[in-house]
Amino acid sequence: MHIQEKDKAYIAGTYGRFPVTLVKGKGSEVFDENGKRYIDLGTGIAVNSFGVADDAWKEAVINQLDKIQHASNLYYTEPQVQLAEALVGATGMKKVFFGNSGAEANECAIKVARKYGTDKYGEGHHRIITLKNSFHGRTITTLAATGQDVFHTSFTPFTEGFSYAVANDIDDMKAKFQEADDVCGVLMELVQGEGGVMALDKEYVQEVAKLCREKDALLMIDEVQTGNGRTGSIYAFMQYDITPDVVTTAKGLGGGLPIGACIIGEKAENVLTPSSHGSTFGGNPICAAGAVHVFSRLTPELLEGVKEREALIRSTLQAAPGVKEISGMGLMLGITPTEKSAKEIVNEALSKGVLVLTAKEKVRLLPALNIPMEQLTEALSVLKEIFA
Ligand code: PLP
Repeated sequence: MHIQEKDKAYIAGTYGRFPVTLVKGKGSEVFDENGKRYIDLGTGIAVNSFGVADDAWKEAVINQLDKIQHASNLYYTEPQVQLAEALVGATGMKKVFFGNSGAEANECAIKVARKYGTDKYGEGHHRIITLKNSFHGRTITTLAATGQDVFHTSFTPFTEGFSYAVANDIDDMKAKFQEADDVCGVLMELVQGEGGVMALDKEYVQEVAKLCREKDALLMIDEVQTGNGRTGSIYAFMQYDITPDVVTTAKGLGGGLPIGACIIGEKAENVLTPSSHGSTFGGNPICAAGAVHVFSRLTPELLEGVKEREALIRSTLQAAPGVKEISGMGLMLGITPTEKSAKEIVNEALSKGVLVLTAKEKVRLLPALNIPMEQLTEALSVLKEIFA
C-alpha cells in the first residue's frame, strides 16, 4: 500500500491532510516523495523556526544525542538548566516548568493560577477568564479554556471554572470579573492564531494587566504560537509593555522537537511545590538542547530580519488584487482574500509549490524566521498571482 493509503488505514482520522508526503528538506525548501519542491511558508505550524535540517541546530541536537537522550526528572541535566536560565534571563521571570507541548504548557499555567488562588484565598478561588475566539489546546481542560463553542461539543463534561470575555472589549472583561469573586487568572493570546491571526489592541492588553493587578489575578500570556521570535520580539508581550505573571510557550521553541515551557514570574514563583506537577519527558535533554540552540539565535539582528521579512510580505501583498487586508505581527500574518476562499488559495499554492495555511477565513503565513529573501520573494510572487 502507498503511504497515504496506509495512513488512512492505520492512523486515527483526526487530520484533514493534504495529498502530499513530505520526505526531506533544507531550510525553507521541502520536497515530497516525487521530488517536487515546495517553498515552506508554514514551518509545521510555526515550529521549524530555522526551517528544515538547519545545520547548526542539527549539530546541537546530535551533540546531545551522543551524550544522553533522556534522564528522568529525578536527576539534574545540563540542557534543561541552560534553557531555563535563558528563558528566565530573556523574560525577567523567575521559574520554568517544562512539558512537551503547548497544551501542556497551558495546563501547567492553569494549575499555577488555581493553586495560587487556592493557597491565598482558599478552596474555590479557581476561575480563569479567557477570550472568545481563543485557542489554548486539545486536552479536556485546554479545550475548556478555548473560547470557541465549536470546541465545546462531544467531550462533555469539560473542566469547570472558565469564563469567556470578548477580545478587545475592556468593559466585558470588567463585567466578567464583577460576575465572579473567584477569579485567579486571565489567560490570553496576544495574537489569536487559530482564531484568525488577530492581534489584540495594546491599550486593551494594558488595561487587562492593570485589572489583573487590582484583582490579584495572574496575567497569563499564551505565547505558544507567538513566542520565540515569531512576532519580531523574543516574546510578543515585550511589544505590549506588560509584565505577565505567567508565559506559556512551545512550538518554535524546540525548532522542531517537542518541548513546552510554562514560565512563572515573581508573584507565583513558589506556587509549584514538590509533587504538585510533573512530566516524564518534560525538558528532555535532546529537545532542551535544540531549544537552547534556537534561543541563542534570537539576536537583535535575527529579530530585525523578521521585521524586514514582514515588511516584504506586506509591501508585496497589501495592495495586491484579491487581497483585502493583512493582519498579525512579524512572521505570523493572516491575509484576507476577496476573490477566492482561503482554502482554494492554499490548495492552488500547494499545486504551484508553496506551502501556506489557513486560519478561519484567512490565508496564514508562518515562514521560517530566517527564510532567504529570494525564496520569500519567489513564494510571494506565486501567491500574488493566486490571490488575483
Ligand atoms: N496555544 C496556542 C496559542 C496554539 O496556537 C496552540 C496550537 O496551535 C496551542 C496552544 C496548543 O499547542 P499544542 O498543539 O502544542 O498542544
